[in-house]
Amino acid sequence: MNSIDRYAVFGQPINHSKSPQIHTFFAQQTRQNLIYQAKEVGADIFTVSANEFFSKGGKGLNCTVPLKELAFQFADKLTPRAKFAKAVNTLVLQSDGSILGDNTDGCGLVRDLMINHQITLKEKRILILGAGGASRGIIDPIMQHSPEKIVIANRTVEKSIALAIEFQDLGMIKGCGFKDLVQQQFDLILNATSASLSNQLPPLVDNLLAENGCCYDLAYANEPTAFVRWGLENKALKSLDGLGMLIEQAAEAFYSWRGIRPNTENIINLFHEGTI
Ligand code: NDP
Repeated sequence: MNSIDRYAVFGQPINHSKSPQIHTFFAQQTRQNLIYQAKEVGADIFTVSANEFFSKGGKGLNCTVPLKELAFQFADKLTPRAKFAKAVNTLVLQSDGSILGDNTDGCGLVRDLMINHQITLKEKRILILGAGGASRGIIDPIMQHSPEKIVIANRTVEKSIALAIEFQDLGMIKGCGFKDLVQQQFDLILNATSASLSNQLPPLVDNLLAENGCCYDLAYANEPTAFVRWGLENKALKSLDGLGMLIEQAAEAFYSWRGIRPNTENIINLFHEGTI
């Protein structure tokens, strides 16, 4: 009988996923007896595949593009941060057999910014580019650190305005289009569009980044993304990609599953060195 606890990431496409390497590294580091595999699962077969996974003894799942909204619906219960995000990236089998849905993306971003890169959020002017699932997941975790304001700019302007209205009770949050950013400056610009995945940039106006401001692309790649390059060209103090966020959201999921928090510093260094 196989006594190894099983975990997996479902998504489509999935062959680029670094999650199996990350969780295998965490398991070795914390001496946890588990296996973690990636499986190509599209939206059409998600519910059947997730039910099968848990009915065969699976303990936890990560869900990535395009499954986060479906995972939100699949969960029996939700953490407050998953409710806010209306998206789930982590499913956790509970002792009573129910499935808890969590969203660790926003927490992963904030940990990477604040702990790994010492970028503070308090009283900062923060611009979020994009109004998709990732933007939705990061607004509340950022607002918890009392920025001066968040502006959400999106290509489809109605979406950024609707998102800002939805979160308006949290503080100063405004939605707009890219052209409306003229003559505004920000201390931190977060690229939560998927433009970098096709090596594109959102249409950014000049002088958007304040002196000593920082840029962060939620996307990551082996080479600097178009937005990371834009940040460097615009004299960002730091211009970072989303690898650290990926690793930190994974560490948070691992903690939800195993009750033990892995040390992320070593693995971030190993990825940067290209060792893994
Ligand atoms: P969605 O598909 O939900 O949203 C995509 C967003 O990007 C929309 O706002 C869309 O605008 C905008 N967009 C797409 N192409 C362009 C373009 N060429 N110019 C301007 N805007 C564009 O994606 P997600 O929110 O799920 O993901 C966004 C990014 O965040 C991806 O790069 C993803 O890889 C990354 N991510 C990283 C994570 C990490 O751990 N590092 C975790 C989660 C996400 P419109 O509404 O007008 O279509």
